[in-house]
Amino acid sequence: MTGQPFYRTGEPKALVAPIEKLVDWAQSNSLWPLGFGLACCAIEMMAANAGHYDLERFGVFPRNSPRQADVMIVAGTVVFKMAERIKRLYEQMAEPRYVISMGSCANCGGPYWQHGYHVVKGVDQVVPVDVYVPGCPPRPEALIDAILKLQEKIRAGIPPGERPISIFDPGAKANAR
Ligand code: SF4
Repeated sequence: MTGQPFYRTGEPKALVAPIEKLVDWAQSNSLWPLGFGLACCAIEMMAANAGHYDLERFGVFPRNSPRQADVMIVAGTVVFKMAERIKRLYEQMAEPRYVISMGSCANCGGPYWQHGYHVVKGVDQVVPVDVYVPGCPPRPEALIDAILKLQEKIRAGIPPGERPISIFDPGAKANAR
């Protein structure tokens, strides 16, 4: 598809667009993450959902069942015991489904990279990742940035798991203090 996806007709006002674009637009504005966390990064994810950051203004609404969720935010350390459960939850989620890897542990093993025999060195060895969020832990702003990037990716029609994005952590300096 080329050109402007949306355009106005004359009176009465109406939006006309290819159905694929409308579906992508609707889906990108109603991302429902699976509500679970693995370690300390999950505290920042919870903060992003709380009143101060208010993720619901972006249409992001956590669900407690994988069957009602289409985004998995892997927030924390992925140990080998948990990897199998993550894979099972991912497969129970609605399609198309997306994954945000939040924090150094989920990205690559983090502080356990060298000596953590029990830690998976990146959740992308278990499920396909769409957006990587650096930081230990990333601040809620970084997670919000990741969600906005994921929305852009969905609107661009990029299938889940393809062309993963890594964002810059805007809170890196604040974390270092
Ligand atoms: S990246 Fe840092 S803050 Fe996040 S789970 Fe690992 S150790 Fe905890």
